[in-house]
Amino acid sequence: MDIFGNSHPKKMPQHFFFAALAIHHETAVRGNVEKQNYSVCPRHWYIDADFKCERCGQEFTWTAKEQKAWFEDYFFWVDSQPRHCAKCRGEIRRLVELRKEYDATVAAARHHGTTEQKRQIIEIVSELQQAFGQLPEKMTETKRLFEHQTRSQAEPDGAGNSHRAGQ
Ligand SMILES: [Zn+2]
Repeated sequence: MDIFGNSHPKKMPQHFFFAALAIHHETAVRGNVEKQNYSVCPRHWYIDADFKCERCGQEFTWTAKEQKAWFEDYFFWVDSQPRHCAKCRGEIRRLVELRKEYDATVAAARHHGTTEQKRQIIEIVSELQQAFGQLPEKMTETKRLFEHQTRSQAEPDGAGNSHRAGQ
């Protein structure tokens, strides 16, 4: 008797791979449903499947091995599917870290920051701007302010290779 595709990978409910461009059934390995986070319908199989990255448009394979890690080690909700390739996932993680770094350092830099700290914030905002196009008004204002302040504190010769933080 087949319950939610337990008898054969090809009988798995379609919704588990609804966004996939291709499913490579010959790669199927058994899932351990005891370890999965589900309410009704578990994943009886993990199967290599190809997806298109929503960010860069590249095709990538979500492997059976990755799926096992997602659902059994990291306990992702059983219906989840990847939206981004591994490279973009890494970049997105880094941008989230940058945003956290901005939040953690901006107040101090505004009140008693050194030129070096302010330059760092400027770099962070520039990078976020490049990635997202548009940022909250307050961030771009802070960047403008710091640019103005670091310019007026710059060495008279203005050589970009000097990073002395002195007045
Ligand atoms: Zn991508």
